Amino acid sequence: MRILLVEDEKDLSTIIRQGLEEEGYVVDVAHDGEEGLYMAENFPADAIILDIMLPLLDGLSVLSALRKKGNMTPVILLTARDALLDKIKGLDTGADDYLTKPFVFGELLARVRSLLRRKAAVKEAVIRIGDLEINTASHEVRRAGKVITLSAREYALLEYLAYKKDNVVTRTEIVEHIYSEDSDMDSNVVDVYINYLRNKIDKDFKKKLIHTVRGAGYILKEE
Ligand code: CA
Repeated sequence: MRILLVEDEKDLSTIIRQGLEEEGYVVDVAHDGEEGLYMAENFPADAIILDIMLPLLDGLSVLSALRKKGNMTPVILLTARDALLDKIKGLDTGADDYLTKPFVFGELLARVRSLLRRKAAVKEAVIRIGDLEINTASHEVRRAGKVITLSAREYALLEYLAYKKDNVVTRTEIVEHIYSEDSDMDSNVVDVYINYLRNKIDKDFKKKLIHTVRGAGYILKEE
């Protein structure tokens, strides 16, 4: 999953970025509102963490511009303590959630997961496809109750497919959402990782869950 972080405080943005990357997210960082708006419009993020007090263009203006253009990417606003008016304005402008500074990183993570689930219309931290269970909080994966060990990249790919379950996901989409710009991923490598996943998730089971849609991409679903 790709997260855009718009935060001008360098120390804070570094900490948030590292924490998110440790959880397997791909993170883009913008340090002012104009850059944030540009990145939100040009790189497809799954969620945006948007500070309100920003140079050049404040967070509420960024949010308002995005929503006016029909960009419905889930947004968590970061607000200063006691900025009640900002919270109200933020929610009315189309923010999905907000977090008051200072916050505990674990809470930001939980809110990001919650937004991603809401976007995917998944209610619980555990996503189920047939007898496959993916715990998006602990990253534990089970099939028919048995724990399946995945590498970080395999997990990120499976989680992306799971959030989009029952929908076709293209190779390009996979590259854009789960691999950072600086990694040398191309769409052929996606096929390689899909094969790794199939070996771990589907090979030993009669019912296959990862399906190839010829000329389009892949779909995770119970048939
Ligand atoms: Ca700020």
